[in-house]
Amino acid sequence: MIAIDGPGAAGKSTVARLLARRLGTFVFDTGALYRAVTLLALPQGIAPNDAAALTVIANDLDITMAPPTVDDGRQVNVQLGDEDVTWALRTPEIDAAVSEVSAHQGVRAALLPVQRRIADGAAVVMVGRDIGTVVAPDAGTKFYLDASAEERARRRLVDLQRQGVETDFASVLKDLRARDAWDAGRDLSPLRPAEDAIIIHSDGRTAEEIAVEMATIAKERWAALTARGSRA
Ligand code: C5P
Repeated sequence: MIAIDGPGAAGKSTVARLLARRLGTFVFDTGALYRAVTLLALPQGIAPNDAAALTVIANDLDITMAPPTVDDGRQVNVQLGDEDVTWALRTPEIDAAVSEVSAHQGVRAALLPVQRRIADGAAVVMVGRDIGTVVAPDAGTKFYLDASAEERARRRLVDLQRQGVETDFASVLKDLRARDAWDAGRDLSPLRPAEDAIIIHSDGRTAEEIAVEMATIAKERWAALTARGSRA
């Protein structure tokens, strides 16, 4: 089990997909869980600060994630019930609300067992904010993928433009900084590298280069842990 944590739009999902392809594993992007709770809440008029109502939604979440079946730039297929919500999860409205939603204890507690079930024993690359620190502290290899806010905003802008969303660099940068502040500043599972995480900066590097580096490290660690008889 490999953990990749880091701030929004650092390239975690893309790198994770390339890494998983190299290692023959699959990817579980945990941000989709928090985004799905937000997507269900907003149309019902449930505010991002309504911890009780959001916790009910998180406990009832009927979410399925599977390898992509549509060639439209998606990394994964996400369904809520029978509905494909892959792109609906990635709008600026969800971006703006998801960090507040994810800071509630009830929401995190509801989603933790779902993530632990996946992490437990499976050959998986898990992507998130607190995988190495909280969800799977005994993960065999932990990465923390970072990049400057400007580089992340440039990438996010390209994603949004591909979806046909009208926005500009300055507002994307502002939104990302606001999300960083929420994610790093919350009391529960704040965004930070695990003590034993390998920190990688993605500025100016391609996702492929980083995936190659991560695959090499993961294989070396796996070999060392296996030799010592520990869990990889
Ligand atoms: O990674 P992504 O941008 O999809 O995550 C959306 C939001 O979900 C993050 O900004 C963060 O607030 C929350 N999140 C979290 N813990 C995780 C994954 C995501 O709090 N493990």
